[in-house]
Amino acid sequence: MSARWRALVDALLGRERRLRLRSARCLLACALMAYSVASMGYLVGAGLAAPGPMLALALFGMGGMLGFYAAIRSGLSERWSDPSLTLAQMSFSLVVGALAYMLAGRGRGAVFPIMMVVLMFGLYSLSPRQVRLMSWLALQLFGTAMGVMAWRDPLVYPPEVEFAHFLVIAIFLPAVSILAGQLGLLRDALKRQKAELREALARNEALAQRDELTGLANRRHMAALIEAERARCVRGGGRFCLAVLDIDRFKRINDAHGHPAGDRVLEVFAAEALAAIREADVLARWGGEEFMLMLPDTGLTAARLGLERLRTRVEALRVAHGAAELAFTLSAGLVEVAGGESPVEAIARADRALYEAKQQGRNKVVSG
Ligand code: GH3
Ligand code: MG
Ligand code: MG
Repeated sequence: MSARWRALVDALLGRERRLRLRSARCLLACALMAYSVASMGYLVGAGLAAPGPMLALALFGMGGMLGFYAAIRSGLSERWSDPSLTLAQMSFSLVVGALAYMLAGRGRGAVFPIMMVVLMFGLYSLSPRQVRLMSWLALQLFGTAMGVMAWRDPLVYPPEVEFAHFLVIAIFLPAVSILAGQLGLLRDALKRQKAELREALARNEALAQRDELTGLANRRHMAALIEAERARCVRGGGRFCLAVLDIDRFKRINDAHGHPAGDRVLEVFAAEALAAIREADVLARWGGEEFMLMLPDTGLTAARLGLERLRTRVEALRVAHGAAELAFTLSAGLVEVAGGESPVEAIARADRALYEAKQQGRNKVVSG
């Protein structure tokens, strides 16, 4: 699209997505009205209708539609309950249609298709109840127009012909309502499916990032978070700390009390550690009974203090399992990451520090 063309479209429709849609639909309705006015001109030219009243109706119809467009395009209609003005546009067009029917004389057959098109405008955006209301209004307006003309001008509008016309729309309009009801159901089902799909996607995404047992971030998600933090530090020249946490002699808990007891310990530890760390820190299950803690914007000294606090909390913790009360301790290897060091290298250093903590007798925090 050339720049000039795009500028023209922007000027006509506006920039915001919904405003564009509303303006475009209203312009389409204006174009249909213009086509109807041209048809009125043809009827006058063919000597089927009187020029004066038709000209007045054409001005009324075109002026009204342009008024709707102005109200939508200027944003004025945003203040009203239905900013698309669909019901108002349709009611107005039906009134114009019924008046045209009265003025068109023997050319009035041309008005019927226009009434159908007007109703079709509502099929996709109105509720079934609103379409019923519009069909009912069309029936009233055209019924009145037929009755009045059969009474006033029975030569051109013979009552028996008008009655036949009325029968046709009285049968056709309820059919439109039924169709609209089905379309409405389809639209609701689609909307519901879309919402469900979006929810399922969000749930899946969240699940893919979580460890099932503890609810903590899983290893894959944590690796991404660490990488993002490293990139942030490279850009801003910051630093952060990483700690590998490992439960001491965990195998003994499993061996003595069973696998479910071990699982329970992992769960309780995760909850306790989450409560002990700061809001900005991230804890993840790195694998088995190993956890990874990331402390953004934190130096080694502060991180060490935090980890010591966690270590003593865990030391004091008791996990009830059946009749038993399980106690356990924690070892940690802590490193500070700065200067764009790769996460793989930093984690290897933390692993070595953890190994050192185990060597020193466990229940220790060692920094590397
Ligand atoms: P250390 O103090 O040297 O860390 O000794 P440890 O017994 O904790 O270490 P080791 O790596 O020998 O044993 C870890 C055990 O953790 C082995 C494995 O069966 C157990 N384990 C790993 N994942 C789970 C799990 O999800 N649930 C349970 N209950 N046990 C697990
Ligand atoms: Mg262990
Ligand atoms: Mg281990």
